[in-house]
Amino acid sequence: MLVKTILVFLGLMVLVALIGRALFPSALPRIMRKRAAPPVCAKCGRYLIGRKTCDCGNKAGEGKAK
Ligand SMILES: [Zn+2]
Repeated sequence: MLVKTILVFLGLMVLVALIGRALFPSALPRIMRKRAAPPVCAKCGRYLIGRKTCDCGNKAGEGKAK
């Protein structure tokens, strides 16, 4: 009986986790999230880490939105 209760409890925990992950993916810690592609300059393809503009003068994200 006790084992059954524990199994049901574990099942509920998994269910809650699955529902929570489906509803609030942004609430997960960053490690569990899928790694988003690093921002890349749309013009020259250089990585834009920690800055908004590229050395070539193109702003990050420009060109992607179009
Ligand atoms: Zn660039």
